Amino acid sequence: MERILNYIDGELIEPTTGTYLDNINPAIGEVYSYIPDSNKDDVELAVKAAEKAKEAWGALPIEDRSEALLKVADLIDENLEALAKAESIDNGKPINLARTVDIPRASANFRFYAKAIINQSTKAHITPDKGINYTVRDPLGIAGCISPWNLPLYLFTWKIAPALASGNCVVAKPSEITPMTAYLLSKICIEAGLPAGVLNIVHGLGPQVGEAIVAHPSIPAISFTGGTATGQKIGSIAAPMFKKLSLELGGKNPNIIFDDCDFEDALATTLRSSFANQGQICLCGSRIYLQRGIYDKFLEAFVAKVNNMQVGDPLDETTRTGAVVSEQHQEKILHYISLARLEGGKVLAGGNAFNPEGRCKNGYFVQPTVITGLDENCRTNQEEIFGPVVTIQAFDTEEEAIALANSTKYGLSATLWTQNLTRAHKVAAAIKAGIVWVNCWLVRDLRTPFGGVKQSGVGREGGDEALHFFTEEKNICIKT
Ligand code: NDP
Repeated sequence: MERILNYIDGELIEPTTGTYLDNINPAIGEVYSYIPDSNKDDVELAVKAAEKAKEAWGALPIEDRSEALLKVADLIDENLEALAKAESIDNGKPINLARTVDIPRASANFRFYAKAIINQSTKAHITPDKGINYTVRDPLGIAGCISPWNLPLYLFTWKIAPALASGNCVVAKPSEITPMTAYLLSKICIEAGLPAGVLNIVHGLGPQVGEAIVAHPSIPAISFTGGTATGQKIGSIAAPMFKKLSLELGGKNPNIIFDDCDFEDALATTLRSSFANQGQICLCGSRIYLQRGIYDKFLEAFVAKVNNMQVGDPLDETTRTGAVVSEQHQEKILHYISLARLEGGKVLAGGNAFNPEGRCKNGYFVQPTVITGLDENCRTNQEEIFGPVVTIQAFDTEEEAIALANSTKYGLSATLWTQNLTRAHKVAAAIKAGIVWVNCWLVRDLRTPFGGVKQSGVGREGGDEALHFFTEEKNICIKT
């Protein structure tokens, strides 16, 4: 069985512990490879390698750094099929989704930041007869990047690419639950000729490897995407060390549908925004609010479509809903569905685990689930489930919709459906979220800032924000 290896100092190496963890294919419920069970000694090796490499990498002409990252992007594209298959097996997501979204977006991350650094500019302020102030930006040295399992290669590269582009070396940890595409990326970096020590990937558990990265005194910046509780823990370690921190955390995103929406568009997109990747995208909408006039019609059509969704083998080309990521996660989702019933919720579609016939009969699947009859204050509507479960509630006025949207501790994203431009502006402005989509969902432009508010995160990523995060700005003033 294949053993994944750490990528440190340009080489694929065994963990210092000599021990490995099981890597499970969630669609069949079986171990299919082994992951290094690394610890702080492996992180130490990675930091040493990065220390050795950082000066030369930071001093490389921008065109050369850009060239190196473009080569990685090209090789991701060349290996699209192998990466998509690996991600589908690791994660349980439909191979079609991995091939058309996750992997292309991973190469887009490298390509975008490889080009973005070429176009970076600095600011100058001229004070007549006194001086010229201008700013320069220097890399921080070493960046720590920690990513989750739901979009494994996409979110991993979303952090790594801007960190490398802005001249840092990186010590990174992918989720231990979905490590395979990060391992394949290390092979790609070797093939691309990325200098040794520039990118180091240490596999293993969060409390061992992740915390060792966060606590390491030679790593001045941590970019983390994951759950809010883990973010709090990371903040408690990094903040007293005055590290730069970017935290992209959980969400409980509202999807507000007004009577005057384009019905068919809202229906089709809401199906996708609720259940894409089995609801395991941080930007999925999990609370649907329907204006009273459209409530019955939309609910009936939506439930009919959900009942028609085919759940099945992620490697089957026609599958659009695959397995959830692990047995533990399946249990968590089912626990929340039971809780919803206890809280008085009515399950109108799904509500159970699912066992497809054949190869995937022991995999971890959950039926797409629709629940009504709950109010906004219950735990089902307050806590992040992160699975194929949505609740539906009615509202009457814009004010009510805004209050419902803002009724949780989270503020990652929101979606609005209306044909009324004034209403769209007014409601979007009043919703506390990092991004509000109007009549669309998941439309992303890498130049735009991204990040949650409230307990969904601290800091903005994307575009120049990410390049700024991984550099420190200095102001130089010259007397004139
Ligand atoms: P976790 O917070 O459990 O884990 C995220 C990463 O942190 C993993 O690599 C994990 O390692 C690591 N980790 C765990 N504990 C520690 C620790 N003490 N110190 C340092 N690192 C640690 O999140 P999930 O992987 O379960 O991902 C799902 C969550 O991510 C959801 O809440 C989702 O909303 C959020 N998310 C947010 C996004 C955003 O942009 N805001 C985007 C995507 C997801 P290990 O796997 O070994 O536990």
